[in-house]
Amino acid sequence: MTETLLDRALSRLDEAAGHINIDADVIEKLKFPRETIQMRLLIRMDDGSRKSFLAWRCRYDDTRGPTKGGIRFHPDAAVEEVETLAFWMTFKCAVMNLPFGGSKGAVKVDPRKLSKAELERLSRAYMQAFSRVVGPDRDIPAPDVYTNAMVMGWMADEYNQIVGSISPAVITGKPLALGGSLGRTDATARGGYYLVRHLATELGLGSRTRIAIQGFGNAGQYYAELAAADGHSIVAVSDSAGAIHKADGLDVARLLAGKTAGRHVTELAAELGAEIITPEALLAVDCEQLVPAALEDMITVEHAATVRAKVIVELANGPVTPDADKVLGQRGVIVLPDILANAGGVTVSYFEWVQNRQGFYWDLEEIHQRLLRIVECEGRAIWTLAQDRQVTMRSAAYIHALSRLAQAIEAHGTQHFFTS
Ligand code: NAD
Repeated sequence: MTETLLDRALSRLDEAAGHINIDADVIEKLKFPRETIQMRLLIRMDDGSRKSFLAWRCRYDDTRGPTKGGIRFHPDAAVEEVETLAFWMTFKCAVMNLPFGGSKGAVKVDPRKLSKAELERLSRAYMQAFSRVVGPDRDIPAPDVYTNAMVMGWMADEYNQIVGSISPAVITGKPLALGGSLGRTDATARGGYYLVRHLATELGLGSRTRIAIQGFGNAGQYYAELAAADGHSIVAVSDSAGAIHKADGLDVARLLAGKTAGRHVTELAAELGAEIITPEALLAVDCEQLVPAALEDMITVEHAATVRAKVIVELANGPVTPDADKVLGQRGVIVLPDILANAGGVTVSYFEWVQNRQGFYWDLEEIHQRLLRIVECEGRAIWTLAQDRQVTMRSAAYIHALSRLAQAIEAHGTQHFFTS
C-alpha cells in the first residue's frame, strides 16, 4: 500500500511518542481526525450556468480548545491533504501554547479561473455549507493558499447573516475594517523571521545572510521584505511559473512592485538583471537560508542532496518530505520545522480572536511584542530540547507539542486511572 501524506505526517507523531512517556489513550485519540465533512458547493456562474465544486472541512482534534485552521482554494485540493493540514494545525497550536485544537478546509477550484463575483459567491457558499461546523467557540477558519482577507470578510458576513448577529470571532484574517487585527498580513513571515533572528548564533548564521525563497506569495514576500530591511540579501525567488537568481542580491522593492502588478518573477528577470533558473536549481543555490514558502512535498530526497543552505526555514506547511529530512539531517542542514517556523500566522490569528471577543483592539507594537515573546519562548524551549535529547528541531517541536496535547488528553483520565 502506498504511503499517504497523512501517513507520513503521522510518522512524526509516532517518532515523538517514542521519546516521552505518554498513555496509549493519547495516540488513540490523535491518530485519526475527529470530524471530516465533504460538501458540494453549487454556485451560479457569470454566464448563467451552474457549477459545483468539492469542498471539505476537517476538525482534527479539539482537546485543547476550539479548532483553528485556514481554508485553501486550490485545483489539487484533496480530502487527505485537508486532514493532514488539520493534523499539523493541531500540533502547531500546541507548539505555541495557543488554546486551540487544529482544523483545515479547502475547495477544489482554480480561483484564477473565476471572476471576482464568482469568487464571492463561492466564498459565501462555503460558509453556507459549513456554518453548522464553524463558530467562535467551535471552529475558527482563516486564510490559506489562494484565499485572502476579502474572502474571509465575505465568509464572516455570510456567517453573521446566518446566525443573525455580528460575530467577528468566527473567522480570522479579516480586513482591518471588519475586525481584523493589525499585524496579521505579515505575521507568518514575521514569526519565522523572529525565530531565525533569535537563534541566529546557535544556527551559525551571521547578520548578513543570503536567502533563497521558493514561492513568492504572502509568506515568501513578507519574509523577503523583513530580511532585506535588516540587511540580508535575497538571491533567488520562485513562483508557480518559474525561478530567478542574482548572486549579489535582487532588488526586493522592485520585485514586490512587479508581483503586486500581477507579473511572474520570471517576467521581471531582465529588468532586475537576474538569470532565469529551473525550480530545482533554486533549491541548490549557494546561500545560508533556504525558505520554502509554496506548497507541500516540494523538497524531496533528490533535492535534499543538492541543498547548500545551512538552514531551511519552513514557512510552507510540509515542504520537506520525511526521507528528505533524514538526508538533510545527515548533511548537517538544520530544518526549522513548519509547526514552529510558520506559526506566527496562527498566533496573530489568535490575537485577532481575543481582540474580537474582548472588543478592545491592540496597537501594532503590542501585537509585535506579544508575537516576539511567544516565538522566542517556544523557539528557545524547542532549541534546548533538541540539544538535550540530541534530536532534530522537528522532532523536538513534535515532542514539545505532544507533551502539551498528552497533558490535556490525560487530564480526562487514562486507562490506568479507570482501572486502578
Ligand atoms: P500564497 O497563495 O500567497 O502564495 C503561494 C506562492 O507559492 C505563490 O507565489 C505561488 O505562485 C507559489 N507557488 C505555487 N506553486 C509553486 C511551485 N510549484 N513552485 C514555486 N512556487 C509555487 O500562499 P501563502 O499564504 O503565502 O502560503 C504559502 C505556504 O505557507 C503554504 O504552504 C501555506 O499553507 C503556508 N502558510 C501560510 C500562512 C499564511 O498566513 N499565509 C500561515 C501558515 C502557513
